[in-house]
Amino acid sequence: MTVVLGEETATPLVKNYVFYVDVFSYCNLRCPSCPVGNKTGHTDHLPRGLMSPALLGEILDKALSECVVSVIGLYNWTEPLLHPEIAALIRTVKDRGIPCVVSSNLNALRNPEELLASGLDALRISLSGFTQPVYVIGHRGGNIEIVKANMHRLAAAKAATGAATSINVFYHRYRYNECEIKPMSALSHKLGFGFESTLAYVMPVEKIIAMAQGQQSPEDRELLSNLVVPLDRALAVTSRTNKTSCSLLEDIITIDVAGNAMLCCGSSMERGNVIGSFLNLPLDEIQRRRRERTLCASCLQLGIPDYFAGAIE
Ligand code: SF4
Ligand code: SF4
Repeated sequence: MTVVLGEETATPLVKNYVFYVDVFSYCNLRCPSCPVGNKTGHTDHLPRGLMSPALLGEILDKALSECVVSVIGLYNWTEPLLHPEIAALIRTVKDRGIPCVVSSNLNALRNPEELLASGLDALRISLSGFTQPVYVIGHRGGNIEIVKANMHRLAAAKAATGAATSINVFYHRYRYNECEIKPMSALSHKLGFGFESTLAYVMPVEKIIAMAQGQQSPEDRELLSNLVVPLDRALAVTSRTNKTSCSLLEDIITIDVAGNAMLCCGSSMERGNVIGSFLNLPLDEIQRRRRERTLCASCLQLGIPDYFAGAIE
């Protein structure tokens, strides 16, 4: 959509949003730092299956009629490369002139040439180690040797297709895996990929609040002991910011595999976080309903949006 400018003020009349859309209802890993792995919320009711390119196209067309879509991420709490039509989904985004990004654990990679030839702007590879015993602590259920083999396949596909896709390795730093940053960074650069490391943090919002209130399972305690910056110390800092609004709410729209607008990309897939059908509700109404959610008050009190934004770095 073209940005509409006011004639006199040149102020944008429509707002920009980033969209995160889960196109598949499943992830093949069970990372303890993620609601998929730490089983936050009652998720039995969750919509299952695949988002079709047709539904994605309808969602995008409605979004473009209501706002400026600055970028579409085809992921949130699931693994997008498991979708057999991921290339068609990316083309659905690109046909509308919208930048498209994907984040993946890269344990599955069907057709790297087709993926990169789709016009994908950026692919993020999320991982947390170079050797299997280290990697599997943070990426439970994954296999780093498969990931590394798929990184080589991606580099070859990029060379073969001449695709302009920016490929970046995103290394989650824990106390136990700093020693493996160097070899993974070297491999990434050798393959022509970008490399970035960031402190690992706990997700989702509900899990952080529960942990802060002392509700911690043995598995939670193990996760907490692996964090570089202890969660209580991080929240002691972020809770001082006294934020009253949240960019995850005001600037980002999150949509599940069935096309429901969700509370935000940082809260769980719990039924209570479903706002309603994105196609059936005007965007203003979706935003009004989101701002009424009580979870936000507890979240803002702890400064969790700043925690997600990397304030502890
Ligand atoms: S962090 Fe990513 S790879 Fe790990 S379980 Fe969650 S969605 Fe899957
Ligand atoms: S305040 Fe917390 S729960 Fe509310 S939208 Fe922001 S991150 Fe999500």
